[in-house]
Parts: sequence; C-alpha cells; structure tokens
Amino acid sequence: MGTRNDLTLKLFSMIKLTPYGGANEIGGNKILLEDKDARIYLDFGESFDFGEDYFYEYLAPRTANGLEVYFEFGLLPKVSGLYAKELLKFTDLPYKKPDIDAVLISHSHTDHTSHLSFLDPSIPVYMGHGTKAIMDIYAFLYPGFQKYGEHEQLHTFKTGDKIKIKHLIIEPVHVEHSVPGAYGFIIHTSKGNLVYTGDLRLHGPKKEYTLEFIDKARKAKPFAMLCEGTRIGSEQEKNMAEEDVNKSMHEIIKNSKGIVFTYFSMSNVDRFWSVYKAAVENKRILVIDTKLAYILANLRSIVKLPDPLKDPNIMVYFRFSKSCEFQEKDYFKWEREFFSKKITFREIKAAQKKYVMVMNFFKLMELVYIRPENADFIYSMAEHFYEGDDNEEMRQVVENWMAHFKVKFHKAHCSGHASREDLIQMVKTINPQIIIPIHTQHPKEFEKFHSKVLMPENEKTLVL
Ligand SMILES: [Zn+2]
Ligand SMILES: [Zn+2]
Repeated sequence: MGTRNDLTLKLFSMIKLTPYGGANEIGGNKILLEDKDARIYLDFGESFDFGEDYFYEYLAPRTANGLEVYFEFGLLPKVSGLYAKELLKFTDLPYKKPDIDAVLISHSHTDHTSHLSFLDPSIPVYMGHGTKAIMDIYAFLYPGFQKYGEHEQLHTFKTGDKIKIKHLIIEPVHVEHSVPGAYGFIIHTSKGNLVYTGDLRLHGPKKEYTLEFIDKARKAKPFAMLCEGTRIGSEQEKNMAEEDVNKSMHEIIKNSKGIVFTYFSMSNVDRFWSVYKAAVENKRILVIDTKLAYILANLRSIVKLPDPLKDPNIMVYFRFSKSCEFQEKDYFKWEREFFSKKITFREIKAAQKKYVMVMNFFKLMELVYIRPENADFIYSMAEHFYEGDDNEEMRQVVENWMAHFKVKFHKAHCSGHASREDLIQMVKTINPQIIIPIHTQHPKEFEKFHSKVLMPENEKTLVL
C-alpha cells in the first residue's frame, strides 16, 4: 500500500547537483546536492592545480587576505551563505547566514577537505571518526598547511550509521582507499537513492570494505551514482596490487648490499605495512622519522598499527640538531616522547645493511651524515608527485643526490584508485539508472559501458 503515492511523489521530485569542483578533473570534489529544502555538500576539497596559474611558492594568499584573492582570479565560487564572515571582509560578496544543512566528507585527502577552513563555522560538518583522527594529527604536525577550520558542529560517523539531515538519510559505508577511514555514501532522497563513491579501490588488503559498499549500493537500487573515475582512461596501465608492492620491496631489500631508503605517503597505512613487512621479512630494522612515529602512535586507536615505542623492529631517527650532541632539549616536546627509541646517523652509518629507512625529499640532507654505500632507494608514491611537469626541478634534485651517493633508484607503487576493469565491474554490479562521472579527466569513457551518462561541468547545475 502507498506504493503508488510514493511513485507519484518520486516522479515529481527533483534533485539538483552542482559540482563546484571535481567535474572533468581528478580531485577537488565539492558537490552541492539540493533536494526540496535540504542542501548538502559532498566533500569540500581543493583541486590539485588550484591557484597554480597565479601563485608560486611564497607568492600565495595569506590568511589575512581572506577570500578576495581567490575571488579576484575566479578560483572559488562566489556563493553566499557558505563562507565565514571574517573571510569575506574585503570582498564584495555580502555575508549571509548559511543556508547549507551539512558538509559530508568522504575521506581526509586534501582534494576532498582543504576548503573546509573557508566555511562558515555554523555549518555542520560530518566526517568519519578515522578522518577526524587523521586531520587532527596533520593539523598538529603541519599547523601552517593543514588547517581544517573551526566548526561549531563537527559530527563523526562510522560505517552502518544513518545520518538524518532534514528528510535526507545518509548511510556512510567504508571503502578501501590509500588512506584509512574512507567512505562512500548511500543517500536516500525524495527521488530515490543516490550513490556517491568518494575515492575507492579494490586491490588492497581491505578490499572487503569496498565490496561491502558495492553490495549495499546495489541493494539500494540507485537512480543515480556519482562515480569516481580516476583511472577509467588508462586501459593499458597494469593493475599492481598492494601485495605486489610488498613483494617488489621484499626483493629489492633482499638483494640490496647496503641501506634501503624508501619514500611513501605517511597517511597510507597499507603502504606502511608493505614497507614494514618487507623490512622485517629481511630481518632489518625500520627507521622512521619522528613525524611518522607520532602518526603511528596517534593513529593506532583507529587502525591496526605497531606501537613505535614498543615494537623492536622500529627505531626513530633523530636528526643532527642544535647541540650536535643529540640532547633531548634539541627537539620538540612531542618528539622527545620517542627518545627511548632514538637512532642517529652514527649507528646507521656503522651498520648500513641492518636498516630500511624512511626518507622523504626534505630529509635528503641526512645522506651527507649517513654516507650511504651500495644503497638503494624505493620510490613508493603516486607517479605524478615525481613525474609531473611541475616537479621537474625536484626530480632533478633527487636524481643529483642519488647520482652523487651512487644510490640505486627503484619504483614500487600501486594506485589508491580502482582500475578501469574494477570500475566497469562495479558500475555493472551497482547498476544505477544514471551515471555521473566525477574525479576523472575522462568522463566520456563511461559511455562505453553505460547507456545513460550525464556529463557534469563545474558550476553548472544538473537537474535529475
Ligand atoms: Zn580524491
Ligand atoms: Zn583520495
């Protein structure tokens, strides 16, 4: 009973979707969903190329500038009822009390979160409990860069929760991605169910999460799906799994006659485990820096990680500092917490083959003290960080350092995003009536395997 009425209601319902980022680009998701009087944003990120035409290194807007610099170059949408009053002070956009009911965050990556700090603090923000833990850790370690603003109502959720925002019900379901605490959403609207994938993959140790999301999304019989398509255009690219990354690292370490350095994203817990296991399997100590030690110690409450203070396979590297004697007072208070696990260049230099050391770009200076012999370096980050045109100068610097110390360079990495094959399979399984490709430069690829694809455009409203 009542089905007929429901059906009539759904036929007359109208959903509006307006991407302010995330259409025809990888990242920068910021998608406004309007249904009756409910208005929510799905993510609130910053595009990867944000401001690159106008800003360069220190030529960048400061907090005191507010938003007028962004408006000047058309980098942020001039939408009222969204931004904090303070930030609008010197702009021609008058402050209006917010008319946004919620901003829902899928995961902690900057391309989904970085503009949260611009929001009016009274707008309710929802994020997974793991995402909040990661954001807090990064805000502490990088206070100048990783602000996510003050929010009067910051709600956390976990998988299986049901979030009610006016008449909308939102179900967050965990997915596997290259950072813990990532979610997709199933949104119950007046027109039926809408699925938002966030960022996800199916080739890591937690693929069960994504499979669970796909199953729930399928059962929801969605009328539309906002689907990430980061890798939809890369037909040729071979799909390396996280397991392969571990194996590859294992081999490199096994064959190395010296110290093995590695560089990976510190929030990528799956990658941490791949490195950790490869080191331990080869009976080597993993040397991490104080920042990674802090991350491990503070993320352990939400995801399985070793305790850097207790794990015998981990030592914490303390850099050469002020006193030149490695005294506690040379380091920040939070770093001193790890002093009982201290290792310095001296121990490493004396027995290089005993160690695998986490080495990022800005720590290369330590090589001068360690003086590596027969060393190997495993680069384990997304290709574009190293191979992108913007990073040409950085790449040259790394290469110069490697050549100078005769360090052998290797790559071992797999993507945080589903392969083309996995995406096609996922769309077929969930079987939404309409697909809206986001987080991709190749949205048209979806037309090859789905009959109704709506092409989104930033700042243009799609009416469903
Ligand atoms: Zn993303
Ligand atoms: Zn992501």
